[in-house]
Amino acid sequence: MSENLPLVVLLYYKYVQIDKPETFVKDHRALCESLGLKGRILVAEEGINGTVAGDKETTDRYQEVLHADPRFADMEFKISHGDPTTFPKLMIKARQEIVTLGLENDVDPNQTTGTHLSPREWKEMLDKEKDDVVVFDARNRYESDVGFFENAIKPDIEHFRDLPDIVDQYSHLKDKKFLMYCTGGIRCEKASALFKERGFKDVYQLHGGIVSYLEHEGRDHWEGDCFVFDQRMVVPDEFALAKEPIGRCEHTGAPTRNFENCLHVPCHRLFIVSAEALEEHPEYGICSRCTESGITLNSVDRGGNVPSENAS
Ligand SMILES: [Zn+2]
Repeated sequence: MSENLPLVVLLYYKYVQIDKPETFVKDHRALCESLGLKGRILVAEEGINGTVAGDKETTDRYQEVLHADPRFADMEFKISHGDPTTFPKLMIKARQEIVTLGLENDVDPNQTTGTHLSPREWKEMLDKEKDDVVVFDARNRYESDVGFFENAIKPDIEHFRDLPDIVDQYSHLKDKKFLMYCTGGIRCEKASALFKERGFKDVYQLHGGIVSYLEHEGRDHWEGDCFVFDQRMVVPDEFALAKEPIGRCEHTGAPTRNFENCLHVPCHRLFIVSAEALEEHPEYGICSRCTESGITLNSVDRGGNVPSENAS
């Protein structure tokens, strides 16, 4: 699989004070352009969060440059593969947060956070204590639709910022060993702080996320695909791709890895739909929820199908 995908994709984040994010963005854009990197990078006073793609030489150079900056000296880069369609453009933006939780008094992952478990420690805990621990998927609904850790709680949220509203649904689990995971670890930094502030006593998080786990520990306890926020939609993992997908078309129930954004623009919800069925039935471009509420192809403006959130 990887040999057909010539580009290296780096996924990384770091919570660290960045003064004047706007200025940082300007300089960093110049750096990425000079290297010829494509991808998506968010910068805030709280840190940096990026996914970039380039050939091996370029991505090696990029890692060197970042590691030479004291703020990013210990930055961990997670590596997967892609091709030039993975990131057609370079997008670097300054934001309020590098992942949006949107709390008025924001949680600070440098102050409060869960206990980090390495992929190995995570696996050992599931091997030994799987019936006694709670496993919590800190990602969005459409991500856990295509893959998850066995027995995980998979909240029905469309955005990370919806998480604070549903934490208390799980308050009966406050005294349990509470293990959470996300794609690359960045969302768990804030999610674990949030759960701890709400009284969860024993919170753990998977260091490096699903991407590191699959890279280092393989597929034990994991089922299906790992969703990513770029044109690939799932990490192109030969073991996963050899198996039947877990995702099911919302309209036909057929197994598929194809995602579309609902054509009803105010909804724009990302959902799973069989590409073959969609070709035959263009009305399947409208998600099942909108279809049930009477929205038809005639009543919608067409929207694009690029995932709009940057979150690992
Ligand atoms: Zn919809």
